[in-house]
Amino acid sequence: MSEKKLKFNSRAIHGGQRPDKAYGAVMPPIYQTSTYAQTTPGAHQGFEYSRSANPTRTALENSLASIENGNYGLAFASGLAAIDAVIKLLEPGDEVVSTNDLYGGSYRLFRQVFEKFGISFRFIGMQNADTIGDHINEKTKLIWVETPTNPMMNVIDIRAVSDLAKKHNLLLAVDNTFATPYLQTPLDMGADIVMHSATKYLGGHSDVVVGALVVKDKALADQLYFLQNASGAVCGPMDSFLTLRGIKTLHVRMQRHCENGRVVAEYLAGHPKVEKVYWPGFKDHPNHDIAKNQMRDFGGMISFVPKGSGYADAIKIVEKLRLFTLAESLGGVESLAGHPASMTHASIPKEEREKSGVVDSLIRLSVGIEDADDLIADLEQAIG
Ligand SMILES: *Cc1c(COP(=O)(O)O)cnc(C)c1O
Repeated sequence: MSEKKLKFNSRAIHGGQRPDKAYGAVMPPIYQTSTYAQTTPGAHQGFEYSRSANPTRTALENSLASIENGNYGLAFASGLAAIDAVIKLLEPGDEVVSTNDLYGGSYRLFRQVFEKFGISFRFIGMQNADTIGDHINEKTKLIWVETPTNPMMNVIDIRAVSDLAKKHNLLLAVDNTFATPYLQTPLDMGADIVMHSATKYLGGHSDVVVGALVVKDKALADQLYFLQNASGAVCGPMDSFLTLRGIKTLHVRMQRHCENGRVVAEYLAGHPKVEKVYWPGFKDHPNHDIAKNQMRDFGGMISFVPKGSGYADAIKIVEKLRLFTLAESLGGVESLAGHPASMTHASIPKEEREKSGVVDSLIRLSVGIEDADDLIADLEQAIG
């Protein structure tokens, strides 16, 4: 059966995978080697140096391409290393139009590293795709979208942004870390590049830092491969193995993340001490219709603001949580809680942060796959 015909759950397990040539190992072995024997210069079995390619990484890259409905996957040492490669496609003088409410590390990389090299970034709200065109000029080369956004859970219409990108001949890159291909496949909606922090849901067990890019176009894949090899921030064999193992249960984990996410979101929304809950599954979420249209479910990422509270009250709540671990990151099997203003988004200036809703009392939850009753009981004792 042609692999492209397999449905998502089957591709999560089998996509791009072949039993290993040496002994038929069903899981690709961890090829912990930097180099490969040649019989005469240039004669080898497809691998010559592990920065350029490593069989365990290739197995992961093939899986990534398969689950995102792309043709080429590239695995990096971190999500930020993957973003770094995308921005290096550009030249000094080029402009990028980016989501304003995005991962703090992406913002820091754009502003504090790439602006120095003459690339400029415009950070705008993209919930209304009609207004994005106002920020495009002859220097614009790339649109950077993160959806759902972090931590405000806004949803951006990927098809509408893609139409705009095509009209102006721009590249469209989508950070698909929060949604994962279980919920949405941006390449199917017209994006050119899908990016992941595979550290999060793809790995799924909080045991690796890995990044990924997936594209359909061969020329674009070649350019990105050149940058991956030239800059060298590749994913190592052990991390490739762990990420690949994670992907094999992505669909069952995501199903439970979504179920638990709904239970926790509804509990918080009904709580008298909670002011506001941000979760795209609510009918009154401002982008609910777009979410319903482009996502298969709504995920387990939720942000909320406790009533009448400030910095200190939010800190008190996250300190009291027991089953939810107070930690950076998200997307693992275990539930995590974060305080964006002091943690993930501390590198974004306060005024900038508050403009997009990241107030001092905002708490972000990555709802894991434990028993929902236990998660609710933990929130109950912490919020009071
Ligand atoms: C974590 C994260 C990144 C950065 O990835 P690293 O693997 O930490 O380098 C980028 N985008 C989003 C949405 C993230 O959550």
